[in-house]
Amino acid sequence: MKQSVKMIVGNWKMNGVSASLEQAQAIRDAVAGSGGARVVLCPPATLVARMADLLDGGGVAVGGQDCHAKPSGAFTGSISAEMLADAGATVVILGHSERRTAFGETDAEVAAKVEAAIAAGLEPIICVGETLEQRQAGDAIAVVSDQVAGSLPDGLSERVFAVAYEPVWAIGTGLTPTLEQIAEVHAAVRVAIVARLGEGARTAPILYGGSVKPENARDILATAEVGGALVGGASLKAADFMPIIQAAA
Ligand code: PEP
Repeated sequence: MKQSVKMIVGNWKMNGVSASLEQAQAIRDAVAGSGGARVVLCPPATLVARMADLLDGGGVAVGGQDCHAKPSGAFTGSISAEMLADAGATVVILGHSERRTAFGETDAEVAAKVEAAIAAGLEPIICVGETLEQRQAGDAIAVVSDQVAGSLPDGLSERVFAVAYEPVWAIGTGLTPTLEQIAEVHAAVRVAIVARLGEGARTAPILYGGSVKPENARDILATAEVGGALVGGASLKAADFMPIIQAAA
């Protein structure tokens, strides 16, 4: 059976200044010769337009890390989905656990942002994941399934989107779930997506995120229902990110 192309997304978080564009260029140059995976880089908003110009026509797309649910207005400091698209982004990460925790984003707010993203023509990557306390209490599957049900709006069913399973306790910690745990949650996320949106959503990729590194990428990407990876720290340098991209090929 032909395996679908994996999606490898780099989340630079609040890291990156003009000089960091060199890393994006190095990733683009290396990806041009490697093929095999679909690659997206999500820099801070200040770099989206310049990175999109730099990578235009290459094999690496550019995405945002968040957007406001409204298209415009008196929301000082915020960026709309339309603005991201205008700057050259084609993808946007929404509902990252750092946004849910540090900015108190609820499932309903994430769903409203997803609607804004699709209205602007962006491909949303909707993040879900349990905390360590929730996992230890045996609630991981229930928490993640509820987040999927609450964060995916109706309008998503006919659209291109991805869901990222990111256990909160694995992000930036060097800890990762076992492959069995990843497979178990990804299977549950698939069930929740199809329950929410119907059979048409059966092929939406489910990415794994949380301390993906060159050393563990191949095994994680070969796990059932893992359609790609959302990578934080290891996406900042081409030397770390390229082996992960190559592991997906
Ligand atoms: C993330 O920011 O989504 C992430 C998974 O980070 P890290 O790879 O650094 O754990």
